[in-house]
Amino acid sequence: MTSITPPSVTSLHKILPDEPLLLMGAGPVPVPPRVAAANSMVINHLGSTMAKVLEQVKVMARYVFQTNCGHLMGVAGPGSAAMEMAITNLVWPGSNVLSITNGFFSARLGEMAERVGADVTEYQVPECEGVDPDEIKKVLQSGRFDVITLVQGETSHTVWNKELKDICTLAHEHGALVIVDAVCTLSTMPLEMDKWGVDAIITGGQKGLSSIPGVSLIAFSDKAWERIESRDCPMPHWCLDARLAVQFWNKKGYHYTAPVSGLLALHEALHLICEESLEGRILRHKRCSRALQNAIEAMGLGLYVPEPARLPSVIGINLPAGIIGKELLEHISAVHRVEIAGSFGPDIVRIGQMGEQCRSHHLFRTVHALGSSMQSLGARMDVPAGVAELERSLNQS
Ligand SMILES: *Cc1c(COP(=O)(O)O)cnc(C)c1O
Repeated sequence: MTSITPPSVTSLHKILPDEPLLLMGAGPVPVPPRVAAANSMVINHLGSTMAKVLEQVKVMARYVFQTNCGHLMGVAGPGSAAMEMAITNLVWPGSNVLSITNGFFSARLGEMAERVGADVTEYQVPECEGVDPDEIKKVLQSGRFDVITLVQGETSHTVWNKELKDICTLAHEHGALVIVDAVCTLSTMPLEMDKWGVDAIITGGQKGLSSIPGVSLIAFSDKAWERIESRDCPMPHWCLDARLAVQFWNKKGYHYTAPVSGLLALHEALHLICEESLEGRILRHKRCSRALQNAIEAMGLGLYVPEPARLPSVIGINLPAGIIGKELLEHISAVHRVEIAGSFGPDIVRIGQMGEQCRSHHLFRTVHALGSSMQSLGARMDVPAGVAELERSLNQS
C-alpha cells in the first residue's frame, strides 16, 4: 500500500474574511438570506418535492422572461454553459451565424458558434454604442443567416443594446432566429421574450437574478424548437442537448443529476422577484443605478459610455490620470471591504447594479469607498458632493 501523508491545509474559516466583502463588481452579486438558506439544502433530484420546485421555477421564470413558451429549462453550469446550450442546439456545421459584438461576451457567442462548425460573420458595433438596426438591416440584405446572436447588455464594455425588438423583427423578416444573452440584464430592465420575438434567451444565476453562480436558465421559442427538432446531424454534446434536458424539465425523468441546491436557491431568487414584482424591481434598478451614476459624476469622475447606450446594470468608470485600476481594486477591497471589478478591455473599473447590489445602504458604502480610495491613491475627488448627490438622487424619484 502506498502511504501518502494527507496534505495539511488552512481551515476555510481562516481563509475567508471575518466579515464578508461587499460584492459590487460585475458578478457574482450578494445573495439574499433566503437564497443562501435554500442553497444549503440537498434533496432528492427526482422526488415529488423536486417536481413541485421545478414546476414553480418554470412558472416564475416564464414571468421573468415574459414568455408562455413550453421550452424552458435550467442548466447545471455558468451563464456560458447556457450560452453554449443555445448555440449548440441551434447551430451546426454549415449554419450561417451573424454575431453582433460589442465586447467580450458577445464575441464569446460568435466563438462558440465557430467551434460547432458554423460559418460566422461578425458585425462589430462601434465602441460605446448600442447596435443600430439600420446597420443590421444592411448586413441582412447582403447575405443569408440562420441565427443572429447578441447581448442585451455587454458587461465588459458596459454597453446596452436597446433595440432588441427591432433586431428580432428584422431577423424574422430575413428568416433568421435570434439568440439573446440576458445574463447581466434579466430582471434589471425590461425584456419581453414573446412580444419582442426572441427565439432563445439565456441567463446566469449570479447577476441580475441575485442567485448563486453555476445554475442558469434558458428558454426557446416554438420556432427555435422546430429548428432543434429539424436537426439531422449528430449533436456533439450530451449534457447540453435540449432534447434530452426535456426529460428532466418536462417529463419528471432523468437526464443528469440536477444541481438541486442551486435550483432551490434559484427558486428563492425567482420568488423574491415575484414578490417584488418585475415592475417594482426594474424601477428599483433604474433609480439606484441612476443615483449611483449621478453620484460618481458629482465626485468628479467620468463614465465610460455616454447615454443612450450606457448600460445601467454595470457601470464603467474612467480612471483619472495616475490611477491604476489594479491598485484601486486592491485598496478599496483591503481598506473598505468593498469589491468592484476591473476590466476586460477598456481602461475602466466597473460597478454592478444587479439584484442585491441595488440597495441604498450598499450604494452609500460604495460611493464613499470609491471616492475615498481614489483620494488615497492621489486623485482629487469631491467625496461629500458624491454622497450628497446620491442622497438627492435616491430621494428624487
Ligand atoms: C457574466 C456574463 C456571461 C458569462 O457568465 P458566466 O456565468 O461567467 O459563464 C455571459 N454574458 C454576459 C453578458 C455576462 O455578463
